[in-house]
Amino acid sequence: MSVSNSFPSGLYGGRLTIDPKALAANWMFLAGKLAGETECAAAIKADAYGLGQEMAAKTLFEAGCRTFFVAVPTEALALRKVLPDAVIYALDGLFPGTAAHFLEHDIRPVLGSLEELQEWTALCKSTGRNHPAAVHVDTGIHRLGLSPAEFSAAMSDKALLGPFEPTLVMSHLACGSTPDHPMNRRQLDLFREVTAPFAHIPRSLANSAGVLMGPDYHFDLARPGISLYGGRAFDTGFNPMRPVVKVEARIMIVREVPPGDTIGYGAKQTAKRPLRNAVVAAGYADGLLRRAGSTDERPGGFAMIEGHRAPILGRISMDMITLDVTDVPENLLRRGAFVEMLGPHVAAADIAAYAETIDYEYLTSLGRRFERVYGPLT
Ligand SMILES: *Cc1c(COP(=O)(O)O)cnc(C)c1O
Repeated sequence: MSVSNSFPSGLYGGRLTIDPKALAANWMFLAGKLAGETECAAAIKADAYGLGQEMAAKTLFEAGCRTFFVAVPTEALALRKVLPDAVIYALDGLFPGTAAHFLEHDIRPVLGSLEELQEWTALCKSTGRNHPAAVHVDTGIHRLGLSPAEFSAAMSDKALLGPFEPTLVMSHLACGSTPDHPMNRRQLDLFREVTAPFAHIPRSLANSAGVLMGPDYHFDLARPGISLYGGRAFDTGFNPMRPVVKVEARIMIVREVPPGDTIGYGAKQTAKRPLRNAVVAAGYADGLLRRAGSTDERPGGFAMIEGHRAPILGRISMDMITLDVTDVPENLLRRGAFVEMLGPHVAAADIAAYAETIDYEYLTSLGRRFERVYGPLT
């Protein structure tokens, strides 16, 4: 167990524990789903989905991962400092006039438009070398990527390409979280079709969901993200991943609420019976989703205290949350004790659902005010 903080432990309102062994185990699990010739890379954009880029990068590299995907070029440069020997792709591609930085730090852009491709191939022609980069072809999500027609034309255009040949051709699924959505098949078929003439170039389609959807989606390289961090690749069904993160908040006070009184800002939640509530020292400023609060009309999320469920009472404030602990044994409610707001017994996706969002957003929202601890979650 290691702690990365500068203040005495007892002074923190909340504690964020990250389990590097679980992260490594999740990568091994996903890599194990792939045939031997398919590489398992890792998406570690957005500070490794909020868990910390440096820890995630070192842990995954040690587990055997050699190829990493980030979003923006600044993330790629930060990652290069941590992993001098890894292959690093920037999914957002080439920002104008920045190619020199990509070369200097050995970062590969995922070229997402004809303009980006032209800028990169101009560079290759000027140096007379094939500088590594991926090409993104859009098979239906309509965000980044050359259209299938642009892709086919560009890839056959020797004058355009010069000495450039992509190290990877990739596309991205729009509906992976719903595995039986017909869009998945359509994108798969289109990806196969447009890449067929260039099948000697490594291909990649799968995010976490694509890995779990089976071998048709695997191609030469997979790019899982959310599953590495214990999140849900599919909206429904069993989640086979190990939890990687736990958020605990410290009890400041336990108090009685008489029936008819209200709890929290806006007086939106009324006690329907005599309640005991615990006020804990974390709130939406720590990334705990404000929309997961409860009102008389609409239930909210919950915390867990040693196997006892403690529903959120009223609104989530910036720095505190009120929990219904009426049915929790007294001895578990000491002042200063921690309750689990997120972790092995409180899935991020479940709380996110109360807030009408997804665990991706929840994890990437987790704040900087927590004590950060690396070690087992239990
Ligand atoms: C974020 C991202 C991934 C990883 O997706 P998950 O659903 O988190 O597994 C893969 N590919 C691209 C292009 C992405 O943007």
